[in-house]
Amino acid sequence: MFVSVCACMSVSICQVGYQMPPLWGHLRPSKHFTASLCLCADLAAFREIFSKAKNIAIITGAGVSAESGVPTFRGAGGYWRKWEAQELASPEAFARNPSRVWEFYHYRREVMLTKDPNPAHLAIAECEERLSKQGRKVTVITQNIDELHHRAGSKNILEIHGSLFKTRCMTCGHEAANYKSPICAALEGKGAPDPDTRDAEIPVQNLPRCEQTGCHGLLRPAVVWFGETLDADILTRAEKVLDSCDLCLVVGTSSVVYPAAMFAPQVAVRGVPVAEFNMENTPATMRFKFHFHGPCGTTLPPALARHETEQE
Ligand SMILES: [Zn+2]
Repeated sequence: MFVSVCACMSVSICQVGYQMPPLWGHLRPSKHFTASLCLCADLAAFREIFSKAKNIAIITGAGVSAESGVPTFRGAGGYWRKWEAQELASPEAFARNPSRVWEFYHYRREVMLTKDPNPAHLAIAECEERLSKQGRKVTVITQNIDELHHRAGSKNILEIHGSLFKTRCMTCGHEAANYKSPICAALEGKGAPDPDTRDAEIPVQNLPRCEQTGCHGLLRPAVVWFGETLDADILTRAEKVLDSCDLCLVVGTSSVVYPAAMFAPQVAVRGVPVAEFNMENTPATMRFKFHFHGPCGTTLPPALARHETEQE
């Protein structure tokens, strides 16, 4: 038996159109998989499912932040001075040169003062607030560290990569929110991204330090660096959401790209609809029920707006 997860077997109708690989053959068809026409970008069909969903998981990735103009420091043109993010965002880089790594994060924190949540963030936040009054739940699982979901008003957020605005003490492990600008006096005016900028070489005692009584340990950004594992508690909470959701959205990242690739398949094998909202248009080895192509700031607001069946 050959079952298509996304109902789009027709290349002529579906913009993404391609054949599903046979590995999906073991999946049992559900009512969502049996439509004869492509539902891939069928907003009305999505809205019908959305209107009945009681527990919605929204996985978000870099694309949502990119639409707010947040730099990612990856790929072409994605450099801070001479380095890409992975050369600075690691425990080894911090051990080698904490001043440089702090300059990089100081710059990223300061940049966020000039960025705002975009319509995708706002649509997600508004949806959570509205649905919560109806006893329905929305959880954001994000890899983004910029807190734009938080600033947009989302409450139920799992930041699987931590936050630019949290610090962790290297000595006592204390984690704290930190919105100071600059985060410490020595970093004021530092962190310029241009390739000719020289390292500030700030003495380690002048970098951000722990304010717990008697500690004064060196602080680091409370973000998950390359080579580090995700926070077990947050991961457990994310798994719980994914195991119980009845609709899953993948926003600003492809479902075959981390972090969604880690989470979305476990939702799909339960027969739960997964909807992607992203700029990707490449054939992938896995596809889910819906795919809405375009900037998520454009595609998401109409998808998450109040449905006619919703009570006040
Ligand atoms: Zn400490």
